[in-house]
Amino acid sequence: MKKILFYSNNNSKIKEVKRLFNKYKITILSPQDFNINDEPNENGKSFAENAKIKSDYGFKKFKIPCISDDSGICIEALNWKPGINSKLFLLNFKNKRQCFEKIIEIAQKKSTRKAYFKTSISFTFENDYNVIFEGKSQGLISTKPMGKKGFGYDPIFIPNGYNKTLGQLSITTKNKISHRSIAINKLIDFLIN
Ligand code: IMP
Repeated sequence: MKKILFYSNNNSKIKEVKRLFNKYKITILSPQDFNINDEPNENGKSFAENAKIKSDYGFKKFKIPCISDDSGICIEALNWKPGINSKLFLLNFKNKRQCFEKIIEIAQKKSTRKAYFKTSISFTFENDYNVIFEGKSQGLISTKPMGKKGFGYDPIFIPNGYNKTLGQLSITTKNKISHRSIAINKLIDFLIN
């Protein structure tokens, strides 16, 4: 049984990633399993750079193969931002609802609801040696927040081919179509081949 550390303190991401590895003989650990919750400074200029910072950090700290996820939402009406600043963007508002209302208002004003989620997964398995796997899922910004499942921007993102937000879809369905699952499945292919 192989053990891989997923260097994330986001419980929702950990849950999604653990499920994707369920049927393989690979155990996914997280910093919580070591009673640790510190994170490196994510000062990269892209999802891939930030993901590498986190997986290198985890590998150096625990000396076991380490993966990390950097992801975010890119919205056409916001000139394809907030992207790598998705977490910060949300935190700039009093609460999630105000952030969602602002995004929906701008999308309506600019008459475009196109958006996509992007994930870069970095896998570090030797000192300073990492591989990046990318995933993208296209969709639309909803006309109102819907659903309580998932996390982050899930309640306002309708994936292409669906008429519900990720906030309304089960984790099983999200894991069939999400940016994160696309990237993780590429990593799984790499690991088992
Ligand atoms: P980070 O990758 O931990 O820097 O966080 C990126 C931020 O993007 C998260 O805090 C969420 O707000 C958002 N985000 C990333 N992935 C998802 C997702 O699958 N659903 C909804 N929001 C997400």
